[in-house]
Amino acid sequence: MLVFTHPVCQHHVTPPGHPERVERLAAVERGLAGLSVERRDCPIGDEAEVLRCHPARYVERVKSAVPREGWAQLDGDTFLSPGSFQAAMRAVGGICEAVDAVVSGAAKTAFVAGRPPGHHAECETAMGFCLFGTVAIGAKRALDHHGLGRVAVVDFDVHHGNGTQDLLWNEGRCLFVSSHQMPLYPGSGRPDERGAHGQVLNVALREGSGGAAMREVYERTVFPALADWGPELLLISAGFDAHADDPLAGLEWQAEDYRWLTDRMCDFAGGRVVSTLEGGYDLDALAASVAAHVGVLEERGR
Ligand SMILES: [Zn+2]
Repeated sequence: MLVFTHPVCQHHVTPPGHPERVERLAAVERGLAGLSVERRDCPIGDEAEVLRCHPARYVERVKSAVPREGWAQLDGDTFLSPGSFQAAMRAVGGICEAVDAVVSGAAKTAFVAGRPPGHHAECETAMGFCLFGTVAIGAKRALDHHGLGRVAVVDFDVHHGNGTQDLLWNEGRCLFVSSHQMPLYPGSGRPDERGAHGQVLNVALREGSGGAAMREVYERTVFPALADWGPELLLISAGFDAHADDPLAGLEWQAEDYRWLTDRMCDFAGGRVVSTLEGGYDLDALAASVAAHVGVLEERGR
């Protein structure tokens, strides 16, 4: 099992009081402490990888918006600091290298702890703390570079992965599953949003529901869909903001639920799983949830 991080991901700095903050990575490190994982630095991502999902004019728009000091604001809650572009490109480099390692068989499982997150970034729109669609870029790497025929992305962040859905809407080789609280930001993710090839599956969870409801709906709808799809590689958008202690949402999951969910997902794709950090804003809950999630990836990746 490989864990990809890079100090530059701490150079994406958000304004005081912003929930998606530098300290999250220290919480992730607390979660990783005690796990016997092999550590790797995220390389700088290749812009050609980003261009599989976003047009060049969008990449240039983000790059040119980076401020020399202070912050630039791209939408109501998405900010750029001087290090943001480089941080985002490390997250991109991390997911591509993680996909390479797992597809080549060098590792069975991998986790990328980068910032900023990615699953809200649409084709030409930065939003929800996200600049580039990291997990979708990883899926395209597996499909276009490695030539895999069937990939799946499961997004268990409490918010709908609208960006990933947008980037993979026409991608008939990739199943995209998102489970999320509804109604909640960003407002999309209705079950009737199915993708151009019927390969998108949106699962709505009720506010206040906990791990039992999650397990029931994954057993009933998500795992059968994964079994039918038969992916060669499973990517996970691992947001931990469905945790009961998270301040941004209203689900009641516990760290043990992430352990169960991760273990069940390792039953697919021959256990070839690449996971990448999305949300999770209570630092203690984030640390405990990462310990559970990555702990299983480590056990199953032996
Ligand atoms: Zn989220």
